[in-house]
Formats: sequence, C-alpha cells, structure tokens
Amino acid sequence: MSLIAEHVTRVKASEVSVVTAKALELERQGKSIIRLSAGEPDFPTPDHIKMACVKALCDNKTKYPPAIGLPELREAICLKLKRDNALNFSPQQTIICTGAKQVLFNALTATLNPGDEVILLAPYWMSYVGMIELSRAVPVVILTSHENGFRPSAAELEKAITPRTRWLILNSPGNPSGAVYSVAELKALAEVLRRHPHVWILSDDIYEYFVYDGIKFQNMLNVAPDLADRFLLVNGLSKAYSMTGWRIGYAAGPEELIKAMFKVQSQSTSGANHMSQWASVAALTGDHSFVARNTVEFTERRNLVVTLANQTNGLSCLAPQGSFYSFISCRGCLGKKTPGGSCIATDEALADYLLNDAGVALLPGPPFGMTPYLRVSYATSQSNIKAGFERIKHAFGRLC
Ligand code: PLP
Repeated sequence: MSLIAEHVTRVKASEVSVVTAKALELERQGKSIIRLSAGEPDFPTPDHIKMACVKALCDNKTKYPPAIGLPELREAICLKLKRDNALNFSPQQTIICTGAKQVLFNALTATLNPGDEVILLAPYWMSYVGMIELSRAVPVVILTSHENGFRPSAAELEKAITPRTRWLILNSPGNPSGAVYSVAELKALAEVLRRHPHVWILSDDIYEYFVYDGIKFQNMLNVAPDLADRFLLVNGLSKAYSMTGWRIGYAAGPEELIKAMFKVQSQSTSGANHMSQWASVAALTGDHSFVARNTVEFTERRNLVVTLANQTNGLSCLAPQGSFYSFISCRGCLGKKTPGGSCIATDEALADYLLNDAGVALLPGPPFGMTPYLRVSYATSQSNIKAGFERIKHAFGRLC
C-alpha cells in the first residue's frame, strides 16, 4: 500500500516548477534558454525595502514573529487598503502569511469540507486547482472564451452555482489571461451572488497595480460593499514590489474567517518570515513611485509581445489589459510536423518543441484549464522578449 494519501497522488506539482526544472537542466547541459515562463518581475527589490530588512536584522528581529503577523504590518496593510483601494479594514481583520499562496491555502483549508465546490474561471491560475484538491474539495470550472476577453457572463456563473458551492475565486487582473473585470461586469456577477448567500468571494488582487490603457483597478468589494461579510481579499508583496523571494502575502476579511486561517497557520508555519515583515512595512508605507515606472515598462513589453505574437504565423492573441502575461492561441500550429517527424498534436507538444528545439521556456494551456494556448510571461526584458520570439518564429518556420 502506498504511503502517499490518495488525494495527494491526484494533485499535480506546479507546472511552473516543472518547466523551470527542465529549463535549468537544459542550461546545465550548456543550452541557451530564454525564459518566458516565470511569473516574477525582473526588477530588483527597491533599496529602501532592502535597507528596512537590514535594519530589522541589526535590531535582532530574528525571533518568531506573532503567528498572525506583526501588528505594525497589519496596520500598514489597513492603511494601504484605505489609501489605494478605498476599503476599510481593521488590523483584526487581517493576517500575514508566507506569500499569497499560503493565504489561499490557509483560506481553503480552513473552509472546505470534502466534496465542497469552488468555482474557477478558466483560464485560471493553476495552483487554485491543486489547493482545492488538497482540501478534498472539487473545482467547478467555467470555461471563458477568447472572444469574450476571457471573462464569464453572469448567466454562466449562475448556472455553475450549486448548494455545495463554497467559493467563487476571482483573479483580476488575471493570470494567465491578463483580463481585468470592468465595474459593470463585477456588478453583474455581484447581482448573481446576492441570490446565493452561501457563496463566498475570494478576490485575488495580486496584480492590482499592473493595469494598462488607463484602466482603473476595482475589486468586487468596491462595487458591491454589501457583500463584505462573505468577501476575502487576498494580496501580497511579490509582484507589486518585486519581492517574490521575500514570501509575504496577506488577507483581509471577516474576523471569524481570519481566526480560522490563523489556526491553520499557527499549526503549520507559525507565521511569515520576521525580517521580511519589517521590510514589507517599509514597502507599504514608503515611496511607491517605482510601481508606476514598472507599470510603464510592462505596458511597453505587453505591446511588444502582442505585436510579435500576432506577427507570428499560427499564433493569435488579445492585448491583455493587466498582469504581466499574455495567453496566446496557438491553434494555427497544431497538426504540423517537427523536423524530427513528430506531430505537434497539442499545445503541450508545441511547448516541449519550443523548449527542446528552440530554447524558449513558456507554458502550455492545460495547467490553466484552457487549450490550445501558450502563456508568455513578459516579466522579462524587451531584449529577451525579442530574442524569444525570433527563436519561436525560426522554430515555427521549421514545422511542415
Ligand atoms: N495568485 C496569483 C494569481 C499568482 O499568479 C500568484 C503567483 O504567481 C500568486 C497568487 C502567489 O503569489 P505569492 O505566493 O508569491 O505571493
């Protein structure tokens, strides 16, 4: 009999780690790989944030922090939510975790019973599925479409809700689609949710600052404040502040839920890294001008990816309105043969071909619940993006 729990055997490892490991192995063999796969900004963490960490170390802030998070950081989160999102939360309604990933894990672990359902909108961020399955719950997927800008209709949401639905997970700006929900769309979804008071809303706002074309970020609580008693806001420092390795995420929501998440956390990690929390206070309360500068750079990269992808035979993509990913249809490449004679039957085969033959790492659609697509991350330099697409075009030219 296997030692591994049955439901864990069904969960897949995160595809990004798998592709990164393959890319590293090829690099180790001396191959040049251009990575368009990683979901982390290439900008360094700003100096004032690093210096706050150095100060925390020198002040011996190296012991266990309070498991729910430093009071100073919980305060800073409330200030940030008021300042940037016009939302009122008290520190007791917040928790700090090891990245937004652990926020999500705590929330789902604390609330899901076996067989409960969580509604996901495909294409979705792959880790939602793994976390839901680790709670022995069931992901219920609404498949959106390219034509509708990867956003669902209110009617589709209504149809997916059952008595077992516990959560709807919203992620706007989205990974991988880059879709940003408009106020009207959020209002329409909120109208449906009002008819189903047993459904909670988990709003993953981690890409909130990276919105383009003059769009203003709003989450569902902004447009439907009456849903506050069943709304969990999830965010983190990784993307906005180029702090992926510092592992700080946070949630704000009803106190009873926060307390249950704290219970999970106190019995698992005992809280997030102490020095990173002090650095995060500096990030949330200090100079923010770099965020706007990074957004301008991301806009240029977004434009570059969209132009290059749409100039490549077999690829087609929409201009994403936010985040730093582009979800590119590759239907036009399927059915072709590689120089080695194998058939490119799927987007997974295409991504493998691009990694092994062209030295370009990117992700296929299936982990995001939608196929045939390629996810390109433009959290990398414009020269890398140009070189990556040169290689892609050349590799496509060799298909017949
Ligand atoms: N949510 C989404 C949509 C993401 O894309 C990611 C990371 O890629 C996370 C959450 C987790 O971020 P972190 O754990 O680094 O805070």
